[in-house]
Amino acid sequence: MDLYLPSSVDRVSGHIAFIKACWKFTQTDISLEDVAGISANASEYFVDTRAVNSSTPVFVPLRLHREDVQNRIRDYRAFLGNFDDSQRYGIIINMYWVVMITWFAMCNKLKKTRWNEKIVSRRINFLRANISLPLLFGSHQTPFNMAPWLTTLLPTFGDSLVLLGYFALNVFFLFHNYKITEDNQLFGPNSNTLQTARYLADRAGVLSFAHFPLLVLFAGRNNILIGFSELPYATFMIFHKWTARVMVVHATLHTLAYLWMLWYKGSFAVFIHEWWFVMGVLAIVLGVLILLFAAHYFRVRFYEWFLVSHIVFALLFFISCWEHCVTFGWLDWIACAFAFWITDRLIRIYRLARFGAPRATIEHISDDTFKVSVKRPHNWKPYPGCFVFIHFLHWSIFWQSHPFTIVDSVLEDEQVTIYIKAKDGLTGQIAKLLSHTGQISMRVSLEGPYGNQSPCENYENVILFAGGNGIPGPFYHALHLAEGSRLLPKSKIRLIWIIRSVDSIKWFEPELKRLCRTKIQCDIYITRGFEASMVRANPLLSQFKHHITFHSGRAPSAKILHQEFELCSSSLAIVTCGPGMMCDEIRHVVAKSVEDVDYRVDLFEELQVW
Ligand SMILES: Cc1cc2nc3c(=O)[nH]c(=O)nc-3n(C[C@H](O)[C@H](O)[C@H](O)COP(=O)(O)OP(=O)(O)OC[C@H]3O[C@@H](n4cnc5c(N)ncnc54)[C@H](O)[C@@H]3O)c2cc1C
Repeated sequence: MDLYLPSSVDRVSGHIAFIKACWKFTQTDISLEDVAGISANASEYFVDTRAVNSSTPVFVPLRLHREDVQNRIRDYRAFLGNFDDSQRYGIIINMYWVVMITWFAMCNKLKKTRWNEKIVSRRINFLRANISLPLLFGSHQTPFNMAPWLTTLLPTFGDSLVLLGYFALNVFFLFHNYKITEDNQLFGPNSNTLQTARYLADRAGVLSFAHFPLLVLFAGRNNILIGFSELPYATFMIFHKWTARVMVVHATLHTLAYLWMLWYKGSFAVFIHEWWFVMGVLAIVLGVLILLFAAHYFRVRFYEWFLVSHIVFALLFFISCWEHCVTFGWLDWIACAFAFWITDRLIRIYRLARFGAPRATIEHISDDTFKVSVKRPHNWKPYPGCFVFIHFLHWSIFWQSHPFTIVDSVLEDEQVTIYIKAKDGLTGQIAKLLSHTGQISMRVSLEGPYGNQSPCENYENVILFAGGNGIPGPFYHALHLAEGSRLLPKSKIRLIWIIRSVDSIKWFEPELKRLCRTKIQCDIYITRGFEASMVRANPLLSQFKHHITFHSGRAPSAKILHQEFELCSSSLAIVTCGPGMMCDEIRHVVAKSVEDVDYRVDLFEELQVW
């Protein structure tokens, strides 16, 4: 008979565990010597486990079979090891993002060096044309419509490959390395389905928690990865949305697998009153609600409602997940996420405090556009392409913060200007306040500046496309390049602005005048009510006639780009900011053409939608 004989070390640890259990469950204090004595005495009366009837109480000491013990150890290893594996896989998924973001950082940092010009070859251009630059299903900045009520913003093709790798890792790790055994000592014989369900439930639960830090970090305005990788905030928002979806899928699998097990074992009634169970159910309901309320269709129509629901549900989700697992563990993931969240909030408060709450002049300028001019602190410096979140400190709207591009004023020192197109929410409310007098004064606070500056000064040629209210960013770049000392000697800068009517020029008149003092080539396309003869007749236009070329109709971006590709012989940066369709069209043309040019072409999208 092959009986189990523990080593002396195992025996002592067994005795210690026994003493602890006695104290924990019966508050009986016994010493190691007592247990050793009991054990020595009992060993004279050991009975073979396989000889006893396990359905009736046994009052004799039992000796286990070596095989039974080894199988039990094997099954405990499989069961508890699954938690360790899950934790390890969760860390690997996080590391995947570190690697991907480091890759983006390397590519983007290279664009800031002169080496970038040399990264041109047939193979590299092929990869850029087919992988990093193209759109996915023809849209990136414009919403992709699957049905009238099912719209979404798609990543670029390159970003979607990163996401694909991430999905693949999740699927692989969700099902990898389960040790199912026929004669399982913990789940009983023939329990393959039960074992699989339990392992899957635990794996999915831990993987879901492992997403907490990523999810919160990606959504933060002060996410350190933005500065490190030089990726736009909008890209991190796409990553945020997808990691959130994957997290909820894991959580749903965790829930379904546990619910199935409870149903299978008939133990619903026992668990339904447990706090952790109730909190788990609440967490999954909240997780699904967060996803539903964040749907693009709802978000673009009711942005403020989306935001409030997102923050409230997310806080409740945090708390319910914490309570669900407070006795089990894996709280480090939540604590880490909470640390990211609170840091982001504190930095936001600091940024607002740093700007203060100066009085701004808000004036209606033309069409549906108004302009906000506000003095900035001396050491608070904007830069081309940056944006801020503005708070209008009016009792009815002060808590709302909306993103807008800013430019350093061309009229006054240490003043920033924001051009805002009135829409239906906060901007509509400000427009209403302006409707009587055309100008008001209000305290505002700016949180920022945020965003990465496109490294245009490293290119010989720069073309900037702006559509409508998208002009501030490209204008700021153009001026910065033309007036800055870092410009390359042979540089050519071309600014193309597409506007709806001649009137739109009014609101950017001072800036255009400033532009005329530089060597920037400027073209303005006016889509409605414009004829060439108006350039002489209309004083608003005639003042610019020697510096700016006015065209009628939409800018033929594909034609313009092809001409530029022909004309240029060295590095070219293309910057876009305007309607989503225009930006997507330009991305499409660049991706199609990049293989045909033998110098470096880079595209920088300043438009951000999320
Ligand atoms: C980086 C960035 C820079 C921008 N720069 C400018 C600019 O210089 N001039 C300009 O006129 N507009 C700019 N916008 C757009 C501007 O933020 C929105 O038009 C504005 O927030 C609409 O406010 P609302 O309450 O009136 O909108 P609503 O009428 O409620 O909604 C109109 C649209 O704006 C979106 N939106 C509303 N609130 C927000 C928010 N807090 N964050 C993101 N999107 C929101 C909605 O999804 C919806 O699609 C910029 C947006 C971004 C992301």
